[in-house]
Amino acid sequence: MAGKGRRPLAAGNWKMNGQAADAAALAGALGDWAADTGPGAADMAVCPPTVQLAAVAQHLAGSWIAVGGQDCHPAEMGAHTGDVSAEMLKDAGAAMVILGHSERRADHGETDAEVRAKAQAAWRAGLVAIICIGESEAQRDSGETLAVLSGQLEGSLPDGTTAANTVVAYEPVWAIGTGRTPTVEQVDEAHKHIRVEMTRLVGREAAGIRALYGGSVKPSNAAEILAPEDVDGALVGGASLQASDFQAIYQALVD
Ligand code: PEP
Repeated sequence: MAGKGRRPLAAGNWKMNGQAADAAALAGALGDWAADTGPGAADMAVCPPTVQLAAVAQHLAGSWIAVGGQDCHPAEMGAHTGDVSAEMLKDAGAAMVILGHSERRADHGETDAEVRAKAQAAWRAGLVAIICIGESEAQRDSGETLAVLSGQLEGSLPDGTTAANTVVAYEPVWAIGTGRTPTVEQVDEAHKHIRVEMTRLVGREAAGIRALYGGSVKPSNAAEILAPEDVDGALVGGASLQASDFQAIYQALVD
């Protein structure tokens, strides 16, 4: 499904949901499924709440399912009450971290420059940075979508971005958690633009960088919405909280 030999990725963003028992049950169900099916033609990752990350990583130790954080601080350590460093995520078992999610941009006022600094922190710790970009509904309605995506990529992709250290997630803000999705044509247009812009910014390396779509992906729409050639997988919120739904979305990437 993904173009140019890029390996698709289904990444689950659990957001601020569930208690320890819920996380253990979900990780357990996914781990059992992964052991039964074995690694397929796509990658899978789950990004639990920080407080549950170490336990989820232990549940999935030895599994081909990776674990990620949902945010990190740019600094390695220090007086930053309530924050977590990329090194701490790595130490707890993470292989990647979601950065610049629109909920963090909205709730915490994160700017592109901060996302960029966080991506550099992720690399410093040996984590893959999943950098989220996407337009608001007002920006889409006023025809600014592609310009917004260009600006966010330019502002948040650090020098040194490679296919190995970075994944980009295109998430239209108005499609996150709403049940509304762009048309396949809109997804295709955005992803083609993202690849052109990544090439402008990082050169030939851009051809290998995975670009995920995120926003109300569910089993019933996954095959259609993830079909465009420049879509290399999905960042999934709500539907990643049910093992069977998340597995079905993963399956749409390998079919
Ligand atoms: C997300 O939080 O990244 C997301 C895409 O959420 P949902 O799938 O619930 O729209």
